[in-house]
Amino acid sequence: MRCPPPTHYSLLATHYYSAIIRLVEPEARVGVFFDRDGTLTVDGEGYVGDPARVELQPGAREAVALLKGAGALLFVATNQSGVARGFYGEEAIGRVQARLEELLGVRFDACYYCPHHPSEGQPPYRLECRCRKPEPGLLERGLAEWSLEARRCYLVGDTERDLVAGRRAGLRTVFFMNGSNVEPSGDLRDFSTDSLVVAAEWIAADAGLERAGN
Ligand SMILES: [Mg+2]
Ligand SMILES: [Zn+2]
Repeated sequence: MRCPPPTHYSLLATHYYSAIIRLVEPEARVGVFFDRDGTLTVDGEGYVGDPARVELQPGAREAVALLKGAGALLFVATNQSGVARGFYGEEAIGRVQARLEELLGVRFDACYYCPHHPSEGQPPYRLECRCRKPEPGLLERGLAEWSLEARRCYLVGDTERDLVAGRRAGLRTVFFMNGSNVEPSGDLRDFSTDSLVVAAEWIAADAGLERAGN
């Protein structure tokens, strides 16, 4: 599912922008899908439905500014089973997204979220869905809606399930070591770092993006 658009930008405007961007050098466009909790934000108690609890990871602001300035499309792809568990409603995800964008100082192009859980809560949110990471549904929806080539897109996440989702969708993957997670073994990531700024620099270089001001 897609975040309810915050009041400051309309769905119509987003679709118009998406249609325009589709006409411009489709093969050149790069999309970066960020996990939210534990990647862009500090994942304290988990299940964040209150905008007042949003706290950025060090370097998050610089990292997204670098990528935005280099012309990448920015997305959030987040599991929010707090909805299925009854901790907060879907509208809370939009409020948290608005606060996140305010703190980061950038507008994301879209926020994709999964409100489901296979065994917690009640229908319709209690569901074996195709969007809860490690399933690739959120990423595939973003690729389709923005006519992006998977091989030109990146997943940045702090858990193995993020990387698996990225791999299943055909994306390049970056593992962010946030200080409280364990790097998965195996071949799931193309790059690992404990710095979001280094992650952004690696993506910009790997994708051949021009840095702003260059
Ligand atoms: Mg996470
Ligand atoms: Zn789902």
